Amino acid sequence: MLTVKSFPALFFHYKADVADGNVLISFLNEAEAVPGLHCHSLGQDPQSLFDHLHTSDGAKLKDFLLNKDQSHPAWDLSLLYDNTHWIEIRGNATLSQGTITEGAGMILPAGEKIAALEKSEIQLASLNELHNLIINFSTMLVQASSTEVPQAIQLTLQRLGEYAGVDRVYIFEHDQSLDVVNNTYEWCNEGTSPEIENLQGIPFDLVPRWKEKFALNEYVYIPLISEIASEYIAEKEILEPQGIISLLALPMFYGSRFYGFIGFDAVRQQRVWNDEHIALLRLAGEIISGTINRARFETELIDARQQAEEANHAKSEFLATMSHEIRTPMNAILGFSEILLNTAENDQNKTYLNAVLSSGKTLLALINDILDLSKIEAGQLEINEEPVDLKIVFQEISQVFLPKVDEKQLYLQINLPDGLPDRMVLDDVRLRQILFNIIGNAVKFTHEGGVKVNVTFSEAEGAGGFIDLSISVADTGIGIPEGAIRKIFQSFFQVEGSNTRKYDGTGLGLAISQKLVQIMGGRLQVESKVGEGSTFTIVLPGLERTEAMPEVKDSFDWSGVEVKFDGSTILVVDDVDFNRELVKSFLKSHKLTVLEARSGIEGVELCNACKPQLVLMDLRMPQMNGYDATEIRRSQTNTAHIPVVAFTASSMKHDEPRIRKLFTDYVRKPISRNELVRVLTRYLPHELLSVHSPVQNNSGDDLHISAQQRNAILQLWNEAGLQQKLNQLLHFMDIELLEDFIRELEFTARQFALHQLVDLLELLRQDKNKFDFENYHIHISKLAALIDQFHSLK
Ligand code: ADP
Repeated sequence: MLTVKSFPALFFHYKADVADGNVLISFLNEAEAVPGLHCHSLGQDPQSLFDHLHTSDGAKLKDFLLNKDQSHPAWDLSLLYDNTHWIEIRGNATLSQGTITEGAGMILPAGEKIAALEKSEIQLASLNELHNLIINFSTMLVQASSTEVPQAIQLTLQRLGEYAGVDRVYIFEHDQSLDVVNNTYEWCNEGTSPEIENLQGIPFDLVPRWKEKFALNEYVYIPLISEIASEYIAEKEILEPQGIISLLALPMFYGSRFYGFIGFDAVRQQRVWNDEHIALLRLAGEIISGTINRARFETELIDARQQAEEANHAKSEFLATMSHEIRTPMNAILGFSEILLNTAENDQNKTYLNAVLSSGKTLLALINDILDLSKIEAGQLEINEEPVDLKIVFQEISQVFLPKVDEKQLYLQINLPDGLPDRMVLDDVRLRQILFNIIGNAVKFTHEGGVKVNVTFSEAEGAGGFIDLSISVADTGIGIPEGAIRKIFQSFFQVEGSNTRKYDGTGLGLAISQKLVQIMGGRLQVESKVGEGSTFTIVLPGLERTEAMPEVKDSFDWSGVEVKFDGSTILVVDDVDFNRELVKSFLKSHKLTVLEARSGIEGVELCNACKPQLVLMDLRMPQMNGYDATEIRRSQTNTAHIPVVAFTASSMKHDEPRIRKLFTDYVRKPISRNELVRVLTRYLPHELLSVHSPVQNNSGDDLHISAQQRNAILQLWNEAGLQQKLNQLLHFMDIELLEDFIRELEFTARQFALHQLVDLLELLRQDKNKFDFENYHIHISKLAALIDQFHSLK
């Protein structure tokens, strides 16, 4: 029986004074309206009811008790008690006198309306949570690199699964060509068995309802698998064995293409989904499919780039190997031509041999160009930085081009700015290579006017001491058509036209120059107008100034010197007969005994038996290669001390460290007699004998110089100790000494109009720049003879 006591409503009487805001409450029964709310819990102070209510709710209740709104003596409020329970308070003011209001009321647990409100709050909170979850994993998926994506998706599925309280979350991707679906990602709750392996290549037609719905961008929601209608029995047969109770599957699209679906299985208990959740989960599916596709494209791009790089690398390796293969026979062609040229008596034969030699050198230059390019492309070209004096570089370059410039009646002007640092850190060899190409082109493609080289510099931004350098080469030549300007930096490109054949060249110069400038951290620009000329500008930023002096290069001319090796024995190990033959021919007149071995094994045996003073070792040989043979020789104490010089046709950078480590020294094929002799002098005792022949002076009678001229030059000659320098220079071409020598003589020679001397000095400078040892020897001997004449003149 429902009594007032057991009825969950707490009745009360109240008296309120509007004047002082006091409210007195007294409970009339002992019921508990909601847990914790009965007359005892509020104890002696029923007014503490206000404190248990939410702040604004307490104030609201007080207002009604005070009957502030006189028009509504009866009221009904829904309030939150102790922040946990919704209660309903109804009251009625029965008496109002002056400032005093009296009345009665009742407190009830919240009714249906409140319960619904509470539920929607929970739902809202849950949607909020899903919202946040989606935002979080979207950030994670967007930030993941293509290799991190699978892991990020796996984590996303787990988070979604845990949030939704389901047991399996998975992704199926649709294979359009076969019309099958493949399970590509799966997360399973603990205790739920994975199914991914069983769910590969499932014909999509097995679940026609799904296919249709997905095509219409609708989802599949099966609240209870057990209740699947009999017409979809195939579905049931797939789903039931997996222990699934309810399922939600949402289609995923990439662009407008159906891409697959994301599914949620409840295995332990039924999961009921509402529309709001489904809408948000669809969004999650779209984000995931976008991420998977983004990663796939990225991976495809990376793979494609890698393949292209590999192909490029293979091409470069191929070119490098080919050049290596070509250099080997070049060894014989150039080597034997050189020998024949020295022995040929007949002038016509000499002409032919000169042609062979010069074509061979051109071919070698071309091979070297190709090799440079392939090295650059294979990333094997390194920059060797060293102190460089730009003044010297330009002086030397201009000397090289002057004969051609004169022949074409052009001008070549080089303008160096005031204050240009004496030395800066650069790759001397590569800079010269670039300038040779560009100035060479300018001279080649100009027929009237000439070439101006302008050097400018400015302080680089940032740390002091660095400069930005700009070198522009402007010509007044044929110019480059607009459409070709971008192409001239491509390998083998030459501007087409009736004139093309007139110019030699390979079309590699600019491709190499541009890449070299880029490796040096700079850029190469061009401006040109047909018929007016072209300007190429090399910009090299951030070059370091330096006080250090450029290294003196080891360049001697052994051709003007007879080297006697005191009968040493050397062993040549090479499987190619003509290579050994060539070495023997080169060394014929040098008093050396040359032993020969055709293989690494034979080389090791001969080395043991004969103990030569030096071994010249080919690297690539059948059976035992040069590396192995040298290792063996080194490991044997009786031969370990013998220097072994590698004799290699390789020009690949990666071979070099190994060669340097194992061998005492190395020479590259094709070798010249000079190079070979030079290397041998480093390790074998020898004597140097000058062979300069007495110069035939047929100009003696023409030497009309005054006593003043003669005295001036001889005075300088004696004061500057020039005879001693000349004696040295007659033995070999020492670049620094020669530069010194020329500089010291030149001024006086010009001042006193000693034309023959001026001309000879000019020629010597050209020989030096071109390393033209043959002519150098002739010219320095002529100079010696000329000075002898000055001395002998009375
Ligand atoms: P090469 O000079 O061996 O042909 P390059 O790579 O140095 O190869 O130059 C490519 C092409 O660019 C040349 O064949 C020529 O058509 C054009 N070119 C380069 N420099 C100039 C220039 N200063 N004036 C006119 N054309 C030029």
